[in-house]
Amino acid sequence: MKIMNRNLVCAALAAAVSTSAWGGIQIAIGHNPNDQATAKFHFPGIPAPARNDPATQAQFILVDGRRDANGGNLDVLHDGRAPTEEDQPGDNFFFTAGTDGGRLLIDLGEATDVSRINTYSWHPGARGPQVYNLYAGQEGDTHFVARVQRGTDPGTCGWKCLAQVDTRPKTGEPGGQYGVSIHDPEGVLGRFRYLLLDIFRTESGDGFGNTFYSEIDVWGRGTPAPTEVSSNPVRRQTVPIEGGKYEVTLDTTDTPDLQDWVEKEVIPMVQKWYPNLVQLLPSDGFEAPRKFSITFSKDMQGVAATGGTRIRCAAQWFRGNLKGEAKGAILHEMVHVVQQYGRGRRGNPTAGRVPGWLTEGLTDYIRWYLYEPASHGAEITSRNLARARYDGNYRITANFLNWVINTCDRDLLLQLNTTIREGRYDEEFWKKRTGRTIQDLGAEWRAALEKKLGDGASPKPVS
Ligand SMILES: [Zn+2]
Repeated sequence: MKIMNRNLVCAALAAAVSTSAWGGIQIAIGHNPNDQATAKFHFPGIPAPARNDPATQAQFILVDGRRDANGGNLDVLHDGRAPTEEDQPGDNFFFTAGTDGGRLLIDLGEATDVSRINTYSWHPGARGPQVYNLYAGQEGDTHFVARVQRGTDPGTCGWKCLAQVDTRPKTGEPGGQYGVSIHDPEGVLGRFRYLLLDIFRTESGDGFGNTFYSEIDVWGRGTPAPTEVSSNPVRRQTVPIEGGKYEVTLDTTDTPDLQDWVEKEVIPMVQKWYPNLVQLLPSDGFEAPRKFSITFSKDMQGVAATGGTRIRCAAQWFRGNLKGEAKGAILHEMVHVVQQYGRGRRGNPTAGRVPGWLTEGLTDYIRWYLYEPASHGAEITSRNLARARYDGNYRITANFLNWVINTCDRDLLLQLNTTIREGRYDEEFWKKRTGRTIQDLGAEWRAALEKKLGDGASPKPVS
């Protein structure tokens, strides 16, 4: 773990022990190591996350830094729900990979006698601990709210520094669950409308040092006694594939309404197709993941996404597409689980970048031409012919790859997969395989489409 170099804008604190006192303010830190963490977020001397604290009604605003789209949005920080397991990106907020945190503004809506501020996080690795400085601002001082971008010391524009938090253990594993509670045993922390968290990553050894923040609570004097979050009953089942050779875990905790469809439609499809995909995409010495998971998330936007071996599906989109594209969308993500292209690139420092349109096109080729050819989902018609470019991404590129496979290279899928996975892909690949550049292939494919569609579009003789 590397030590960060950053400007300390609060007075330095002594090493983070379980409780530090600073100017009357106490910072209690709780850590449940991986084997002791439960969905209850219980720490000795630290209140569990609440679901009726003033922060649930507050506005959370990202004033600096970028949210990681693999995680939840800012709502997860004050929705009164905590994650139920150690690595649930969708139930945590975190800044995007490769960056060093950012700044988060909490607007309580009115001046509030703040008695306690609690922050909770959970991750099995270096993204578990919390490192941030906490500032507070009074109502009426709205001029400073806009000026809190990185590079500006909040202390110079009206913010009061309340605490400097660093829960990284001096020794031992950083992973697990953390609870931080900031309060003043003598009374309230102050009368504030705004809070500002200046958040830093916990390490810079790799791109994944941004903390998984699970929940932020703000207690006010005179507000109702906090009620602990009630975690949803967990609905998660693990199903064997090929007699236990592989395993998939399906999580419908968020979406009881999808459970029936998952059991009747998704599980049989996954059991049949995961082994097929493994067979379609082999390479020397490569073993496809033995375990993966599919989680339906109520908060996720878009359609679906895969990180490593975790597939996340946006419940809202799935609900609207159960009879149409839903299962195919899961198959698409399963292809990503089998591809594991990131792994090959990480092991090979000279690996070139693989264009996203190619990875997605290859994935969609498998989906539309091998999994559900009868749907004709990647067909190009005179309506979308204008958008037919070999790098048109997803189903357009899939159509192009299908043409290359049918006209000049039956072995393309296998070779392309191996080349990408082993980090050897560049445009020369096309030359070597087909004798033509990808641009030439693209032009030929396009011409063939035009010819086909042109013929089809010509007036038919009246019979
Ligand atoms: Zn994809």
